[in-house]
Amino acid sequence: MKKFSVLLILLFALAAAGCSESEQAAKAAPSGGSGVLSVKYIDVGQADSILITGPEGGHMLIDAGAELGSENNDVIPALEAEGVERLDAVIATHPHYDHIACMDDVIENYDIGTFYLPDTEGSYTSSTYTKMLSELEEYNVNTVYPKVPSEFMFDGASCEFLGPVENETKDCNEYSLVMRLDWGDTSFLFTGDAGSSSEYNMIDRGFDLSADVLKVGHHGSEYSTTREFLDEVKPSCAVISCGEDNSYGHPSPLTLGRLDGIPVYITKDCGDIVVTSDGKDIEVFTEEDLPKGSAAEKTSGDAETVYIGNKNSRTLHREDCGSLPDEKNRVYFSSVEEAEAEGYKKHTCIK
Ligand SMILES: [Zn+2]
Ligand SMILES: [Zn+2]
Repeated sequence: MKKFSVLLILLFALAAAGCSESEQAAKAAPSGGSGVLSVKYIDVGQADSILITGPEGGHMLIDAGAELGSENNDVIPALEAEGVERLDAVIATHPHYDHIACMDDVIENYDIGTFYLPDTEGSYTSSTYTKMLSELEEYNVNTVYPKVPSEFMFDGASCEFLGPVENETKDCNEYSLVMRLDWGDTSFLFTGDAGSSSEYNMIDRGFDLSADVLKVGHHGSEYSTTREFLDEVKPSCAVISCGEDNSYGHPSPLTLGRLDGIPVYITKDCGDIVVTSDGKDIEVFTEEDLPKGSAAEKTSGDAETVYIGNKNSRTLHREDCGSLPDEKNRVYFSSVEEAEAEGYKKHTCIK
């Protein structure tokens, strides 16, 4: 595991002078180039957008989303704040609005090297998606539907598409392009809204999924980020992109339970999150300090014991118990006391 340090940049006191917090965060964190790779998880509410500045100063954009039903465009201002003039690569992980809402503006305003998107086998249409496809054609953008696995170079860093291997479900989220970026000894995994089916498919293919920084799938939904997947990725930190008080309840407490012991940064709490790598070490920069009691606080070297409750029978099990409830019926606790306070009774696996 790479050496990992955290710099929490506090900007409360600086939020004056007509300068938005996100612009200040952009100034506070190194912006990439000169051998440093910078990954900015832009706070776009209940949506996704990630701007990567490569070690040689090039730019890649993964998704350009906005909250469903909102006309917000937080992507273009973020690109402008970073001084982006050209995008060497753009990835639209999958056609949902919360991932591509602002792609039309991106295509109209920026020279794009290669635009990657998944082949959804004609199974999805929406006006936003159709508009994106016609703009790609109108602006003559080099468009690639990548094979899995396949590689491309970005600014001296190597990138590999690992998913989707196949999609039996025809669920739009499961078409999400999953990509790992390696820079020196460090690596980042981007998963879009891939769910458990895509995760299991990638594991079955024996792909190397290990990464230092995991962008948690589907905004922290309980149907992504399975234990089996986490065992393969073994991240040293995780980032979740989701909006405050979103109606989906993202991130799911179940997902946060599975991530227990790993520092987790959430855009709804932290604002823009910037993770940098000099090829050896990773640093995390956030706009605000983390709220008390978030999963991110539990940053200990060894994973804490996790107890699993059965929502229906209200029985509490050790994580290694042989008779654990179905995943959908699980509730995670970090101590027996905490569970007992909520009325759970100990199974015989707990002494
Ligand atoms: Zn999404
Ligand atoms: Zn989606």
